[in-house]
Amino acid sequence: MVDDMIDSALLGLPDFEPGHVWLVGAGPGDPGLLSALALHALGSADVVVYDALVEPRILRLARPGAVLDFAGKRGGRPSPSQPDISARLIRLAREGKRVLRLKGGDPCVFGRGGEEALALAAALVPFRIVPGITAGVGGLAYAGIPLTHRDTNSAVTFLTGHDSDGTVPGALDWVAIARGAPVLVLYMAARQLPSIVERLISGGRSSGEPAAVISKATTAAQRVVVSTLGEVATAAAGIEAPSIVVIGEVVRFHQALDWVGALGQRSFDPKPR
Ligand code: SAH
Repeated sequence: MVDDMIDSALLGLPDFEPGHVWLVGAGPGDPGLLSALALHALGSADVVVYDALVEPRILRLARPGAVLDFAGKRGGRPSPSQPDISARLIRLAREGKRVLRLKGGDPCVFGRGGEEALALAAALVPFRIVPGITAGVGGLAYAGIPLTHRDTNSAVTFLTGHDSDGTVPGALDWVAIARGAPVLVLYMAARQLPSIVERLISGGRSSGEPAAVISKATTAAQRVVVSTLGEVATAAAGIEAPSIVVIGEVVRFHQALDWVGALGQRSFDPKPR
């Protein structure tokens, strides 16, 4: 059992009690980025209610006998509604199950973890939130792009490229966003990228500033495409989902810091003298 791989007592990890729900972030893909609490939860859960973005290899870490319950979109059919998922979590907890709600990245970063937690709180179901490494942090690290760097930026903006109805978020003040942090990290932006780029440039961003798209970050299929803000939408066309977009001077560091690419090409091998 996977729980044997970590010493819960030594680490002071809490028991996963029956009737409780743990909202857990699975990180962006690489199973090595799971937290000790996430591993502990996988080793103890009775039911794992998981989303489409959770790596299959991570699900294989679940306790043998745990029920794996998919709550995402399957075969083009619409995903279960948020109230349906929350109701399912509440029902399972009331049946006395240890319910692991497993989400890609961090559960509360564009992951509706807050909505589910509110439903659990209202139903008086005890819960815990276990943060995960969000794609906008872990993905950048694996692309060799520092999220902040003293020479370039002391602030970052994370934003979603589409609203719940799939359109560019209308409530966002795009001029303020364009003029705000020097580094922007966009989630769920692939489809609306041309229109987002247009808004950012009309809001004052330079079309020549560096931009990158990171696809399938932290997995073996990770791809990084480096471009400029003006051309990133074209450069990103055809790149596989999921992907995040990074805009700002920090993107320039990719060339020197692409450690994933370097490991692949063994270019860290010392040159013969
Ligand atoms: N809660 C998640 C985000 C869910 S929204 C988190 O914290 O990471 C889904 C979006 O996350 C995707 O459209 C994509 O923009 C981004 N994303 C998630 N996993 C990713 C990955 N491995 N590589 C690139 N982008 C990813």
